Amino acid sequence: MIRAQKENKEALLEVEDLVVAFDTEQGRICAVDGVELELAKGSVLGIAGESGCGKSVTALSIMRLLPKPVSRIMGGRIWFKDQNLLDLPIEQMHTIRGKKISMIFQEPMTALNPVHSVGHQIMEVFHLHFPQMGSQKIRIAGKEMLEKVGIPDPDKVMKKFPHQLSGGMRQRVMIAMALACEPDILIADEPTTALDVTVQAQILDLIKKVQSDSAMSVILITHDLGVIAENCDKVLVMYAGRVAEKADVGPLFQNPLHPYTRGLLDSIPSRAKKAKTLLPTITGGVPSLLNMPDGCRFAGRCPHAMSLCRRGVPEMIQHESGHGVACHLYAKAL
Ligand code: SF4
Repeated sequence: MIRAQKENKEALLEVEDLVVAFDTEQGRICAVDGVELELAKGSVLGIAGESGCGKSVTALSIMRLLPKPVSRIMGGRIWFKDQNLLDLPIEQMHTIRGKKISMIFQEPMTALNPVHSVGHQIMEVFHLHFPQMGSQKIRIAGKEMLEKVGIPDPDKVMKKFPHQLSGGMRQRVMIAMALACEPDILIADEPTTALDVTVQAQILDLIKKVQSDSAMSVILITHDLGVIAENCDKVLVMYAGRVAEKADVGPLFQNPLHPYTRGLLDSIPSRAKKAKTLLPTITGGVPSLLNMPDGCRFAGRCPHAMSLCRRGVPEMIQHESGHGVACHLYAKAL
């Protein structure tokens, strides 16, 4: 399907009303329920939330990489340059995946092939997407990509296997492979979670540098709001498969609206908070996807829950321009 008229002319990627279900032995679960997002050209969108909130499922849906046959996209549209990716034949999707939209994962070992050298794997990306390039040129391009992501002595690293590299180096190799075709969009799913703190900072700096040098758009998925604050332009906070709040990074951190976002921010340690005082936490746990409550999915943990919250699903309300919140507290105030 080709889009008749684009509503948001700035957006390179738009997800509309995405619903994703998984069939499990216990029954069908709805892992993503009505997610909407927009990614502008050259911007960085952070998606934040706890494990299992639907961040990665949303990303895998964009890539059409959801596990089969257990997952099912029940509804929605994913617009990339006026094409609905969900309508594309899989052969056409292969030309977009890796070339126009790339993804890097938390654990590079799951994405890198352990039995092939780094050189073989990076050159394979060029062979796949630019078959007209000769082997000599592909070797040079592969080496240049490794240099670009800060790998010292790329000739030596090309001959190594993934298990012979450190976690940070493996992540750099994966970034080099993801950027080889100069994609329009990079999706980075928890790219630094498995790394130690100093390497985390280096990898995030690298993504930021590549993004600003090439005006690439980035979706950065993380549970770490500090990472969002330092690296993103806009942020989407997800809870139990739904979007709770979305805003530019500044307004979200200065004036968080959703009780869940407030809880997350209150629980971050900071120098301003008194030493030896316990940090506030969000009580309770995320409800099971097999047994989601009616109404607001955060109601069981929310200090402001009202009877309405247990009956009606809160809709996304535009509180201020570009700052939306899905919470009945704000519907009441309108
Ligand atoms: Fe809390 Fe109700 Fe808002 Fe949900 S809708 S976050 S339960 S106040």
